[in-house]
Amino acid sequence: MAKKQFKAESKRILEMMINSIYSHKEIFLRELISNASDAIDKIYYKALTDDSLSFNKDSYYIKVSADKETRTLKISDTGIGMTKEELENNLGVIAKSGSLAFKNENEIKDGFDIIGQFGVGFYSAFMVADVVTVISKALGSDEAYKWESKGADGYTIVPFEKDEVGTEIILKIKEDTEEEKYGDYLEEYRLKSIIKKYSDFIRYPIKMDITTSKLKDDSENEFEDVVEEQVINSMVPIWRKNKNELKDEDYENFYAEKRYGFDKPIKHIHISVDGAVRYNAILFIPEKIPFDYYSKEFEKGLELYSNGVLIMEKCPDLLPDYFSFIKGMVDSEDLSLNISREILQHDRQLKLIAKNIKTKIKNELQKLLKDDRAKYDEFYKSFGRQLKYGIYSDFGSNKADLQDLIMFYSSKEKKMVTLDEYVSKMPEEQKYIYYAVGETNERIDKLPQTELVADKGYEILYFTEDIDEFAIKMLMTYKDKEFRSVSSGDLGIEADETQTDKTDTDQDANKELFDYMKGVLGDKVKDVRISKRLKSHPVCLTSEGELSIEMEKVLSMMPDGQKVKADKILEININHDVFKSLQAAFTSDKDKLTLYTNLLYNQALLIEGLPINDPVEFTNDICKVMV
Ligand code: ADP
Ligand code: MG
Repeated sequence: MAKKQFKAESKRILEMMINSIYSHKEIFLRELISNASDAIDKIYYKALTDDSLSFNKDSYYIKVSADKETRTLKISDTGIGMTKEELENNLGVIAKSGSLAFKNENEIKDGFDIIGQFGVGFYSAFMVADVVTVISKALGSDEAYKWESKGADGYTIVPFEKDEVGTEIILKIKEDTEEEKYGDYLEEYRLKSIIKKYSDFIRYPIKMDITTSKLKDDSENEFEDVVEEQVINSMVPIWRKNKNELKDEDYENFYAEKRYGFDKPIKHIHISVDGAVRYNAILFIPEKIPFDYYSKEFEKGLELYSNGVLIMEKCPDLLPDYFSFIKGMVDSEDLSLNISREILQHDRQLKLIAKNIKTKIKNELQKLLKDDRAKYDEFYKSFGRQLKYGIYSDFGSNKADLQDLIMFYSSKEKKMVTLDEYVSKMPEEQKYIYYAVGETNERIDKLPQTELVADKGYEILYFTEDIDEFAIKMLMTYKDKEFRSVSSGDLGIEADETQTDKTDTDQDANKELFDYMKGVLGDKVKDVRISKRLKSHPVCLTSEGELSIEMEKVLSMMPDGQKVKADKILEININHDVFKSLQAAFTSDKDKLTLYTNLLYNQALLIEGLPINDPVEFTNDICKVMV
């Protein structure tokens, strides 16, 4: 019998499973039961539209049976089954292999992470078994097949006998080792407790033959072992249960079982509404960013159930984009089972639910921010960017909902602060909410443009993400306070009058010098002038008008490469010794002034994090100064 090879990536994962040191090996049972339940779901859906199939609830179940003598564990289902091709395609290739490409070798070495990140479903059987056998008969087929594998070196498929449609998975449980008592997975009590723990809310009965000692008939002290088939799971979906009966752990298990994510959620929100619209929902705020979250492939949405039956895996209409990170499900009796995607979109009930959910999420986030700042910080690290996009998108129509949820790093607090926290600490004479834009907090710390504002003792918010300044421009004000970049022309800081007058006279007195410098730089800058904000640095670039230099940077990096330019001003600190050199060069050596002007301009570009037009010329210029 020819052995077939696994696809390369599947093989790697298999090897990892076989050698896994993952401590929660018991989850293999959850995976196999969940596959069985999915397979029954598939028949269920078919029966909804196909009259020749009647769905008789009693004939659909999952059965778990252990045989200690042969060391085998069998999980059988009466689900839709698999054809020969499906056995080949579904079990020979790992479904989520694409996700692997994204992980680097190091992370993959640690099997834990793979299981944690992607949960490898069926293959997890190899954590506890030496041989895995799958016997399956597909709905509508006369033939059954047996798929078998001893691990990474391949698998076989042969025709087999099986009367009923469905699938049997038979695991030959590994021999016990010092670290791991695999034999436990053949013990009734252990299996029962794993099923209870992970699969309690599976909608179909999970049956086991349970042996109990009973008094013999007509006897007062003689016992006999009686085997009885019992249903182990309660089958009540978690969202129909009373909140008070549920523990955090139950929600976490549900999150894992549902594959909402492979992290531990930061928070769950359990909603039961019985009003104009009736629904139950369990929502989760994840902790980690799904690897594809900020990519085009990511699809937002919640699972949608109609009275306990899944009708859509990802219903996007239930979540606004800015809350697209929320995972979970909604079950409503008021939705029809066979509703189409298009009709659903316009469904009044669904819209009501969505609106309701949005408010709940907002309130929960606000509560988290207030009650558990450390957790909120954690959440914000992952999804803060999305909230800021939310403020910016849809022409700012969601800003009222989101403005109290965003945070920025504060120059004074040295941590993230909300806008409310910023404004509540503003000194009375401070007009604006100041911010500075840069690549990292460390770089902004050193920005010359921040000098005057910082010197005044005002707090500065650090904007390090592309979206920040755009979001804030959309917000315009917070509690009637305008936002102002430390690089903007008017900082609204009252210098004393003599100072202003002095600047004006100085500007006039040096007009020819500045005109000359402007002439050297041409279109690159709109103006060269005396800086009111610089203290210790000789030079900086600022901008005038709506478009800041940082926004220009962001826009120029867009795929469609918008070639918009900010109006740049080269500001010179006339209290700096460099200015004396400029004045001297102006009177004695114009070539030197040209050289100095170019140097200062390029320095300002560097500080701003902008590329220099001609780095070779720049270094040549520096050499000229040195020799
Ligand atoms: P996933 O469940 O996420 O798709 P798995 O590795 O758990 O990934 O399973 C792979 C595929 O094998 C399933 O999608 C399904 O098509 C098939 N499969 C596994 N177990 C069964 C089963 N008991 N009955 C029918 N099909 C199954
Ligand atoms: Mg699965």
